[in-house]
Amino acid sequence: MSPESAPLNPPRASRVAIVGCGFVGATTAYALLLKGAVGEIVLIDKNEKLAEGHADDLRDAELYSHTARVFVGDYSDCATADVIIITAGLSQAQMGASRLGDLLGCAAILKEIVTEIRRHNPSGILLVASNPVDVLTYAVGKWSGMPPGRVIGSGTSLDTTRFRRRLAQHFCVASENVHAYIIGEHGDSQVPVLSSARIAGMSLQDFCVEQGLAYDESIFKAIAQKTRTAGLDIMHAKGATYYGIAAAMSRIVRAIVKDENAVICVSSHVPAELGLGDVCLSLPATLNRQGAGRPLKITLCQSERAALEHSAEVLKGYISHLQL
Ligand code: NAD
Repeated sequence: MSPESAPLNPPRASRVAIVGCGFVGATTAYALLLKGAVGEIVLIDKNEKLAEGHADDLRDAELYSHTARVFVGDYSDCATADVIIITAGLSQAQMGASRLGDLLGCAAILKEIVTEIRRHNPSGILLVASNPVDVLTYAVGKWSGMPPGRVIGSGTSLDTTRFRRRLAQHFCVASENVHAYIIGEHGDSQVPVLSSARIAGMSLQDFCVEQGLAYDESIFKAIAQKTRTAGLDIMHAKGATYYGIAAAMSRIVRAIVKDENAVICVSSHVPAELGLGDVCLSLPATLNRQGAGRPLKITLCQSERAALEHSAEVLKGYISHLQL
């Protein structure tokens, strides 16, 4: 190409920075690499040796996955990041039985990190996975000063996949043919939305009729309960969860960098008109290059609405303990 015909601003590779390269951060990097979701993955961790080890290991996967530039960086590398993922925090083994129990320790870690990120990129998109994710997403929103849709928590994106998979398994259909959301807190007060759940466009009742199955609410309640405790069950078995959350994070990142307008359940600051108060929690929202759109006001039955209000109250209780 002659110099005259060269584009003045060649497109730059999409970049994701990951702060916190433990189980969740490193597995998220791997999921991004396998998907070919981005051109550059920057690993940032206070344990630089660990980050270097992950970077080398990830580069070894390049030939058989996708080409991406994986490197260890510092906060200045966040300046041109399309998405900055925050997965730093206390290790899952260090955390207590309650996701909200270690709030203050995790908040102190994230405040330091957000201060650094803001110095270099005050207008990026922040994607938080550190727990308790809804409370920390709220705090990160305050500390960063970024507009609501640009501070996103992974929220119930993970719980929603756990829920859909279990429903799909029960009905012997593929997870992608089940549409159902877990909303509210990523934690004990999460709300399974069965009233608007659909399989192949049919309500669960209609699908049962079509399949000649009995509609048994106790089965769905048991599935919702299994979904609620799924993370803890995995923790008890292997000490940490990371594959599911990494796949969810990679899906969210892809929706953002590829400007997909994909509807995914993520945590974000809820607008006043939803009547849930000043809080971050999960509702389905469209994700694109601008971040998360206004959370969708999905139709809920009375008990689901009451449960969502309770979830918001639980979260506001924890938020009130934070120094913002
Ligand atoms: P981990 O201990 O394996 O990794 C945490 C990493 O953060 C470590 O490498 C540590 O060195 C780094 N770190 C700590 N403080 C830092 C700082 N100030 N600056 C830079 N790096 C720092 O933990 P993990 O298992 O990867 O979990 C990470 C977080 O993700 C936890 O809060 C965990 O609860 C959360 N998590 C969330 C979900 C979800 O669905 N949202 C699922 C699983 C885990």
